Amino acid sequence: MNVRTEDRDGVRIVTLDNPPINALSFAYSTALVPVLAAAEADASIHAIVLTGANGLFSGGADLNDFASEPAAGTKTIRDVIAAVERSAKTYVAALEKTVLGGGLELALACDYRVAAAGTKLGFPEIKLGLIPGAGGTQRLPRLIGAQDALQLMLKGDNLDAEAAREKGLLDELAASDVVGAALAIVARVRAAAPKRRTSARRTELGIVGLGLFATPFVVAQAHKLVPPEETGGFAAHKLIDAVEASIELDFPRGLAREYRLFDELVRSASSAALRHVFFAERELGKIPGMAPAQPLPIAGAGIAGAGTMGTGIALTFANAGIPTVVIDPSAEQIERAKQLVSSTYASQVQRGRMTQEEASKRGGSIRFASDYAELAAADIVIEAVFESMDVKKTVFAKLDAICKPTAILASNTSTLDIDAMAAVTKRPGKFVGLHFFVPANIMQLLEIVRGKETSAETMATAIALGKTLRKVGVVSANAFGFIGNRMLFDYAREAIGLAEEGVAPERIDRVMKAFGMAMGPFAMFDLSGIDVFWHIGQGNPDAMRSRSAIVDRLYREKRFGQKTGAGMYRYEKGSREPLPDPVTIELFREEAAKAGIVPRPDVSDAEIVRRLTGALIAVGDALLKTGVALRPGDIDIVYVYGYGFPPYRGGPMWYAEKELALV
Ligand code: NAD
Repeated sequence: MNVRTEDRDGVRIVTLDNPPINALSFAYSTALVPVLAAAEADASIHAIVLTGANGLFSGGADLNDFASEPAAGTKTIRDVIAAVERSAKTYVAALEKTVLGGGLELALACDYRVAAAGTKLGFPEIKLGLIPGAGGTQRLPRLIGAQDALQLMLKGDNLDAEAAREKGLLDELAASDVVGAALAIVARVRAAAPKRRTSARRTELGIVGLGLFATPFVVAQAHKLVPPEETGGFAAHKLIDAVEASIELDFPRGLAREYRLFDELVRSASSAALRHVFFAERELGKIPGMAPAQPLPIAGAGIAGAGTMGTGIALTFANAGIPTVVIDPSAEQIERAKQLVSSTYASQVQRGRMTQEEASKRGGSIRFASDYAELAAADIVIEAVFESMDVKKTVFAKLDAICKPTAILASNTSTLDIDAMAAVTKRPGKFVGLHFFVPANIMQLLEIVRGKETSAETMATAIALGKTLRKVGVVSANAFGFIGNRMLFDYAREAIGLAEEGVAPERIDRVMKAFGMAMGPFAMFDLSGIDVFWHIGQGNPDAMRSRSAIVDRLYREKRFGQKTGAGMYRYEKGSREPLPDPVTIELFREEAAKAGIVPRPDVSDAEIVRRLTGALIAVGDALLKTGVALRPGDIDIVYVYGYGFPPYRGGPMWYAEKELALV
């Protein structure tokens, strides 16, 4: 941690140097404030250029600071920015690579901003349930208009330097030497009246001709476009309030409003939950007690099985620039997979997300074949054939004989025993489970299943590969259903139990969606296929335990879900919209009566939530006790990234601890 300074012709260049991202932590801000005060007091200095070491400007605040109040005498970014604001001298921000959150707020307080090409600027606070809290919500609208500012801050996405220049967020782009460009600005503006503090500007709405109605219009529209406060939109509504303040209040009062809103958010349950998810993600790769090991390079991959999963996994590798060979004995499946690859990329090109050239390159990196010998050179082969232990064992025996000795073998099984598969190979140390989720090229979650004999090197390679594939990789021990599906079965069983007690599936789904789940349990049954649950139940009677009768019945009546037009719901031809079906309700009633289950018309919404989340929490607890999951946060990540649990509730284990106070 260091604040470097250098004087050139009356200009002090102040370089932020707090590796790795020049975070403006409490500690760093405390070091920075006196440096700015010294520049202010030095009569030989007429301008200050702020820039960053380590190839970037600043990634913003240190999130660890948010857990506590600054100690007495400690400074924060707000103090740094106040020093810039008060200064009588010209400030120029020389920006590079990363200018995020508090880093961007500091830049906005300067008089001029110049950035190197390739710089990314943004306010990601909303993703953590926060808003910019050091003047960003007041300065950005003053600079680029309320509407553009809202859009940028509500999404939390980055803007590249060119777009930022167009919007007026930057004064200039620099081809290379960004500090040189900043010094040139100082030289140029010296003669003119140089101070241009954003705080002194009026907020532009960005809408011409709406006159007095513009403010309420922009604000009211924005409030309508974000989720309700209680289901993930808490910070978004506060952000809109803060921007409204930038329009209606003068700068000091607007700033005070922003501080109040920020302080409320930093203490909110939803922000604490989102920050927990952020920190839990950073813990994922750490396996306590595992010997340190270097990951092996993966330059080429093989996939066995060109079905739904095999094709999705191939797309994932292609998107990460790793060529694959996909083998399947069925010419028909290969044809279907080829079509899926080309239609996926064609739609990306059509939507303007990819150039034709890039699409052709990615599509071309996936090769299909029917002969296993084509997998001989692969550094890793992922098996995605039918969910049958016999079929998988045959496939792995073949792969073991054909693949080079250094290659890792992996299974994408959802429920089967990794060790039993590893045992048919001569390389159990090089065997691992890689459980992708459907659609594999879209879903971010990846369960990395550690077998009894999986080596540290194989685990390190799998974890590194997960990152290369831009997945969120969670380590699980080898146990039925691993983490996610194991929990899903008990959750589904509880949902069925409620329906057997007479609660309509559509009500259960509605209540769970209101709780924040991306999808209700019954809609999920129909999407995944009731036949899939039935098959899993056959191999593992424990999975559905006492509730199997209704699943048997639906299976016998070929009510598999969306694919057969009826399951828990009914579907109009060609539609995926679940429609309540009296037939299902009658089936539940009949099976419940047979089992002697008494209808309970008085089940409350709160009970529905309590029982369904309770099922998740109870299994999660058992998975921790048996060491299947390493940390509560790992379980939360699985449920947030793989099963649609609301991130603003932090995942089931966080929810249990913080909202239900169960732990
Ligand atoms: P699928 O039926 O769509 O595809 C299986 C493919 O394997 C078919 O193309 C088939 O021709 C091929 N195949 C069969 N025997 C083969 C062999 N000996 N060699 C090479 N290919 C062979 O199935 P899927 O949904 O893609 O599932 C594949 C695996 O992924 C299963 O283990 C499943 O449990 C797991 N999985 C599925 C999902 C999902 O939601 N579909 C999610 C995660 C994991």
